[in-house]
Amino acid sequence: MRVEILGSAAGGGFPQWNCNCRNCHLQRTGALRAKSRTQTQVAVSNDGHEWFLLNASPDLRLQIERTSVLHPCNGSRDSPISGVLLTSGDIDQIAGLLSLRELQPISIYCTPSLRRILREDNSVFGMLNRVPQQARWIDVQTDQMFALSTLSGTNSGLCCELFSLGSRYPVYVSAKRASTLKLEEASLGVMLTASSGGRLAYLPAVPAISEGLLQHLSTADMILFDGTFWSNDELIQVQGSGATALEMGHVPMSGPEGSLSGLSGLLGPRRVFVHVNNTNPILDESSSEYSELKASGWEIAEDGWQFNL
Ligand SMILES: [Zn+2]
Repeated sequence: MRVEILGSAAGGGFPQWNCNCRNCHLQRTGALRAKSRTQTQVAVSNDGHEWFLLNASPDLRLQIERTSVLHPCNGSRDSPISGVLLTSGDIDQIAGLLSLRELQPISIYCTPSLRRILREDNSVFGMLNRVPQQARWIDVQTDQMFALSTLSGTNSGLCCELFSLGSRYPVYVSAKRASTLKLEEASLGVMLTASSGGRLAYLPAVPAISEGLLQHLSTADMILFDGTFWSNDELIQVQGSGATALEMGHVPMSGPEGSLSGLSGLLGPRRVFVHVNNTNPILDESSSEYSELKASGWEIAEDGWQFNL
C-alpha cells in the first residue's frame, strides 16, 4: 500500500491565517525551527495507480497539485482519484469535496448519517451531482469489512473497516438533525488492509483511548493518530479562554489521559501523529516537548511524507 501524507496540520493549518500565537508568529518571521503544514489529508493506493482520499481537506486542490501521482494522465479530463472515504462531518474533513466538483466521476464512501448531513442539509454539496456520471455516494457501516472499488467496479485491493470513536456531531449540525442520526456514526477511525497484508490505521480525531481501540491498533503496521494538542488546556493557555482538548473531542498527547501514556504499550506499529494544531509546542523542533515525543518513539507527520506498507 502506498500512503501519501498530503497535509498534516489540524483545521486552520500552520500557520493559521488569523493566529498570532507564539508558533504562528515565529513561523512567519522564520525564527522557528518548524515546518509549515497544510490541513490533514492522506491518500492511499494498493497499486500506485488507483488512489483513494481519506477525507477531503480545505487545502485539497493545492495538495493534489503538489503530488504528481494524483495528476490527470489520460485525455482532457481524468483523475487517478477513484474515491473519498469520510470519517466525520468536520469542516476540515469535508470542505475539500467542493474542490472535486468539476463533473468528474468519483465514489464517496460515508455512513448514512454523514450522507444525510451533507446531501439533505447542505445544498452546496448538490454540485457534486449535477450530472448522472458524477459523485456516487456509497453507504458504509461501522464494524463491517468492505472493499474500496475502482470506478470501473473492480476491487482496488484495499479492504476497509470503520470503527466508532465518538458520538458528537459537528457544531453546524442542528440538535434536531443530530437527534435523528446514529451516535456511533459521528466520528470514525479507519483500518485499511492492502493486498500485501499491510495495515494502516487512520484516526485524526480521538476523544478517548479505550481497551477496544488499543486492540484494533495492535493489529496495525502503522498508526496515523490524532496529534491535535500537546496538553489538555493548551488553547486556554494560548487564548486565555476556550475549551479543553478533551471537551473538543481530542485526547491530548501529554498527561495521564494522553496518547503518549495511553499508547505506550503499543510497540509494534509505527506511530505517527497527524492533525497537529498550530498551537502545539511539538511543532517547534527545538522544544522539550518535541524531544520527549521523539524519545517516546513517536513521529510527527510532515506534508509530502510517503510510506509503503
Ligand atoms: Zn497559531
